[in-house]
Amino acid sequence: MYQDAIWVYWTGGYDSTFVVLNFLIAKRGELTRARIQPVYLQKCDARRNSDIEQETMQEIRETILQRYPESAKYLLPTIFVDCSKVKLDADIQSGMWELYKMKRLRYPKSQYSYIAQAPRLLDHVIDSGAELAPGTCISQNVRPYINKQFMLEPRRTPWYVWIFRGVRFPVVMVTKQQMWDLAKEKGFEDLLRRSWTCRVPKRIGGRVLPCGRCALCKERLVLAVIRITTN
Ligand SMILES: [Zn+2]
Repeated sequence: MYQDAIWVYWTGGYDSTFVVLNFLIAKRGELTRARIQPVYLQKCDARRNSDIEQETMQEIRETILQRYPESAKYLLPTIFVDCSKVKLDADIQSGMWELYKMKRLRYPKSQYSYIAQAPRLLDHVIDSGAELAPGTCISQNVRPYINKQFMLEPRRTPWYVWIFRGVRFPVVMVTKQQMWDLAKEKGFEDLLRRSWTCRVPKRIGGRVLPCGRCALCKERLVLAVIRITTN
């Protein structure tokens, strides 16, 4: 018998890859039978490098299968959500606008709109990799209202943040450095290094390199490994 699966947004990026590996490998002892259900949001953001992200997740899956065959069977096939076909609820649209007007988000509509919507669509709580970091990101907006279950506390959360009530934030108090330290302790830091976050990569010959200068590259402490493409 399996326990109910833990659903996780996975992009192949540093934080979300950590969340997947943390549940799959580091916490395996406590979660002996919980399966991990990754969810990938397609076309939710024009700047996403969907091809590199999907390739990255595939590579990480293959390594997990080789190195942790016992754990690999708990990692379910990814659910892909085509956001171009998803209608956003009115409260999510207005909540995002409110956060944008308050300068607490960079865009009034973004991947965060769909991060809020997808749990309603799939009828399941989904974990986010939003971590403890400065800047106008989702974690800053939700952190003051998070309870012990890593979810928004209904009585205290303002309506414009409450749009994220279907999302769980298990690493909202964890820094990228702490993720790295834990990965190292558990021996999967190479998989974190292989995660991909850069949205403006350089393509030279058949190689794809992280730019090393954008906010996402700087935040991640370690540069992503260079990827070789066939096209
Ligand atoms: Zn970059």
